[in-house]
Amino acid sequence: MSQRVEDADVIIVGGGPAGLSAALSLGRARRRVIVVDAGTPRNMGAAHMHGVLGHDGLAPLQFLELGRAEVSRYGVQLCHDEISAARANATGVDVDTRNGTISGRRLLIATGLTDELPDIPGMRDQWGRGVVVCPYCDGWEHKDDVIGVIATSPHSVEQAQLLRQWSERIVYFPHAAGDPSAEASDALARRGIRMARGAVTGLRIDDDEVTGVEVDGRVIAVGVVFTGPTPRPRDALLRSLGAATTDGPLGSWVDIDEDGRTTVPGVWAVGNVVNVRANVPVSLGLGALVGGALNSDLVHDDIRNARSSSH
Ligand SMILES: Cc1cc2nc3c(=O)[nH]c(=O)nc-3n(C[C@H](O)[C@H](O)[C@H](O)COP(=O)(O)OP(=O)(O)OC[C@H]3O[C@@H](n4cnc5c(N)ncnc54)[C@H](O)[C@@H]3O)c2cc1C
Repeated sequence: MSQRVEDADVIIVGGGPAGLSAALSLGRARRRVIVVDAGTPRNMGAAHMHGVLGHDGLAPLQFLELGRAEVSRYGVQLCHDEISAARANATGVDVDTRNGTISGRRLLIATGLTDELPDIPGMRDQWGRGVVVCPYCDGWEHKDDVIGVIATSPHSVEQAQLLRQWSERIVYFPHAAGDPSAEASDALARRGIRMARGAVTGLRIDDDEVTGVEVDGRVIAVGVVFTGPTPRPRDALLRSLGAATTDGPLGSWVDIDEDGRTTVPGVWAVGNVVNVRANVPVSLGLGALVGGALNSDLVHDDIRNARSSSH
C-alpha cells in the first residue's frame, strides 16, 4: 500500500475500470488523487474479459493491475482498504477506512454492483464460468453450444432471443419466471428455441464444468447457462450521504447528472454503481468523462478560492 495523502483533491472509492479510468484523467491533470479499493470487482470470477478493444481476452484482474501501474505513474495513491462511512462537510468530504480517516475536496463513488443470482444450487459456484450473464462478453466462446437460459423475469425471453445469434441450440427454462406470454412463446418457437418447463432444482456439474440443468427430475444437457441476475448497486455510502434516487424497472438507483454529479454537493458517482449498462469499455469511457468533469469543477473551485484570498 502507498503512503496516504491527508488532503486529496479527489478520493475515489472503488478501483475497478470506472474508478481507475477517472483516476487516470485526474492524475494526468496533476490532481492529488487517492483510490481506495477493496479488491472485489464484479467480474473477478471470470477468467477472461471480452469486448474490450486492445485487451480482448485478458484476465480481468490482470487488466486492473495494468491500470493500477498506469495511474501510479501520475502520482495517484492506491490503497487496499474498505470505506465504511463518508461524511460531507463545508469544504469537502471525510471517509473512514479500517486504518483511519481521509479527507478530500471531492468524493467519487465507483463501487460497482453485485449480482443477486437465482437460488439454485451450483449457480454461485459457477458464476463467471459455467453461469454467465452477458451475451457480448461470453456468447462467442459458446457459439454453436447448447445454451441454457434460466429465466428470472419475463425479460429473460429477450436474452434467449439475443443468444440465438450465437447458437441455434437454445433451451429456455421459464423456472420461477413462469410461462412466457402466448406471443413470446410463439416467437421462441419460430426461432427454434426449445422450452423446458418446470422448477429448476440444480445444475449438473462434471469436472467443474456445467453439463446440464436439472428440471423436475430430468437433466437437460447444456454447455453453459445464461441468466439474468438482479443487479444490486453497492450504493450504501451514497445513500448514507442522502443522495437522491429514482425507482425504475430494475429497482432504485442513485441519480447523477450527465457529468456524474449526485445531488449531494461534492459527491460524484460513475460506473455500475449508477449505471447497470456500464460494461468495461463503457465504464472506462464514463470514468474518463467524469474525471475530466471533476477536474473542471475543481478548477472553478480554485478560481473562487483565489478570488477570496486576494480580498
Ligand atoms: C461474470 C461477469 C463477467 C463479465 N465479463 C465482462 C466482459 O467480458 N467484458 C465486459 O466489458 N464486461 C464484463 N462484465 C461487466 C464488468 O464486470 C463491469 O462492467 C465492470 O466491472 C464495472 O466496473 P466498475 O468500475 O463500475 O465496478 P467494479 O469493477 O465492480 O469495481 C468496483 C470496485 O469497488 C470496490 N468497492 C466496493 N465497495 C467499496 C468500499 N466500500 N470501499 C472500497 N472499495 C469498494 C470493489 O471491491 C471493486 O474493486 C462482466 C460481469 C460479470 C458479472
